Amino acid sequence: MEKIYDAIVVGTGAGGGMAIKTVCEAGLKVLALNPGRRVDPAKDFRGHKQRYDMKYRGFGDPKTVRYHDEKEYTEGLWEHDVTYTTAPGTQWEWLRVKVTGGKANFWGRSSARFGEIDFKAASQDGFDVDWPVSYEEMAPYYSRVEKWIGVASTVQNRPSNPDGEYLPPVKLRCIDRILQKGAEKVGVPYVEDRIAQLTVPHNGHPACHYCANCSSGCDTGSFFSPPWFTLPDAEKTGNFELRTNAIAKNVLVDDNGRAKGVAYVDRNTRQEVEVYGKTVVLAASCLETAKIMLNSKSRYWPTGIANSSGELGRNLCDHLYATSAYGYLPQLLGQPSLPDNISASTVVWMPRWQNLKDPRQEKFIRGYSVYPGGGCGEFPYYYRRIEGFGSHFKRDIKWYYPTPVSFTIQAPSLPNKNNYLDIDPEVKDIFGIPVLRFHFQWGTNELLMWEHSKQICAEVLRTAGGELLGAGEHPETPGYSQHETGPCRFGNDPKKFVTNRYGQCHDVSNLYICDASIFPYCTDKTTTLSILAFTLRTCEYLIENMRKGNG
Ligand SMILES: Cc1cc2nc3c(=O)[nH]c(=O)nc-3n(C[C@H](O)[C@H](O)[C@H](O)COP(=O)(O)OP(=O)(O)OC[C@H]3O[C@@H](n4cnc5c(N)ncnc54)[C@H](O)[C@@H]3O)c2cc1C
Ligand code: SF4
Repeated sequence: MEKIYDAIVVGTGAGGGMAIKTVCEAGLKVLALNPGRRVDPAKDFRGHKQRYDMKYRGFGDPKTVRYHDEKEYTEGLWEHDVTYTTAPGTQWEWLRVKVTGGKANFWGRSSARFGEIDFKAASQDGFDVDWPVSYEEMAPYYSRVEKWIGVASTVQNRPSNPDGEYLPPVKLRCIDRILQKGAEKVGVPYVEDRIAQLTVPHNGHPACHYCANCSSGCDTGSFFSPPWFTLPDAEKTGNFELRTNAIAKNVLVDDNGRAKGVAYVDRNTRQEVEVYGKTVVLAASCLETAKIMLNSKSRYWPTGIANSSGELGRNLCDHLYATSAYGYLPQLLGQPSLPDNISASTVVWMPRWQNLKDPRQEKFIRGYSVYPGGGCGEFPYYYRRIEGFGSHFKRDIKWYYPTPVSFTIQAPSLPNKNNYLDIDPEVKDIFGIPVLRFHFQWGTNELLMWEHSKQICAEVLRTAGGELLGAGEHPETPGYSQHETGPCRFGNDPKKFVTNRYGQCHDVSNLYICDASIFPYCTDKTTTLSILAFTLRTCEYLIENMRKGNG
């Protein structure tokens, strides 16, 4: 007789790990599926190795490295075999990490809360829909997550980004002290970012030792990642079983169209295997969750499971990332080098300051934020702008070393009927799984935000005494930010939304979603802290339903 688990959780990343921990600690027996191997972060992450000791100087073999965030340090950990296609005219870079912990092993840790201004955006400007939650309802979940994972920042009393429960902030860099003065004069905010990085020991995890290797994985667990935080907690309960190299293909349904388990393909044998559960939680990350659901076709669900609304795969949104301004600070020319990037984090940000009093004050609706960066980085990327060679070249590199600065915009795209996901009818990957196809273009609203940010950031730089050298020529490829949202939107009306306000599918009450696919659209903030907070809420609701026998 096949074993029936209380819950099958697909994915062990930010959302999946939090789901696994929460339901295991409530006493449920859980089987988690992960498409790659298990990582042991203390052994596998080798960020302390010097670049000059590595064959490709840390960048990786150009023949095998595929994504902009992939490095020699993390070779073999990113997903290459599960492929995808793009519709004519669409570009999309779909980055996935196949080992346990997913992308949350290497994330940038910027962790601001969403606020009422985000949840009630449609009520303010009349475009699209509000979120089916209020900030008041979510605030306690954010607090619990922040207190547990540890987020470093300051209380800022700003209307667009609510304050939370913070550890001492990461110290400002030299460039920040200078640019902050420029921002003050221009009248825009320039404050400490909210960073899920431990500036002091926290909940049994050691403080950061400032080695600057976060995007290659932390070997001491000094920032939140599932293999250091959620998965060990789940393991302690004795209720957690992990199946590695298990690529979920589709949700299995019973005779009533309810979820009864998951079919996966074993990466090594390429055989299809079925596993069964009373509940299924999808947390394979925003796009993969939508793909699994679109591939879950049956007599009940001819267009994908739980898709009676027809909204599954639609409303794809992303953050437009682009350089708003770059240049250098002449006052720092020739100054001694300081370890500016030792925290390897965004350190500061310029949280949304647009359309705060009047939602239609600017030419665009909603708002964006900006991450200023620069100073003494590990690698002097400005080398392309310096002429010459030999010792003169080296001297000039050193002369400019503390000075470069740049501003990166994080602008949310708006939902648009032309931006969506479907299954490519012609293409399967090497495991025989039909692949996801992307349809996506940037819209006018986010491009106007970028234009706006170019003017403001140039002004901040010049006012701070800096030299402006230019701005980016085009935005990064869609998908670059890895903050996509939308294809399984949550909302109260089953005719318009895939899940209810708790991430429980309207059509299939024992199918839950724990990633950013339920968020109706992006905000000016990153998504991971919110994935954790919403997952906690969803799983407590799931546990309550199972206790009452309603799941
Ligand atoms: C370099 C970098 C910088 C980033 N910076 C930030 C930042 O500053 N702030 C922020 O909020 N976010 C940031 N992000 C994004 C952040 O990593 C994601 O928002 C977060 O990890 C998403 O959580 P998730 O659980 O949805 O996906 P993931 O954490 O990727 O987890 C998905 C899990 O599902 C598994 N999976 C995928 N497909 C299948 C399948 N078919 N079957 C079974 N399992 C599957 C994956 O292997 C993984 O275990 C960054 C990411 C990167 C890589
Ligand atoms: S800088 Fe800190 S958080 Fe990042 S990898 Fe090093 S010790 Fe870990």
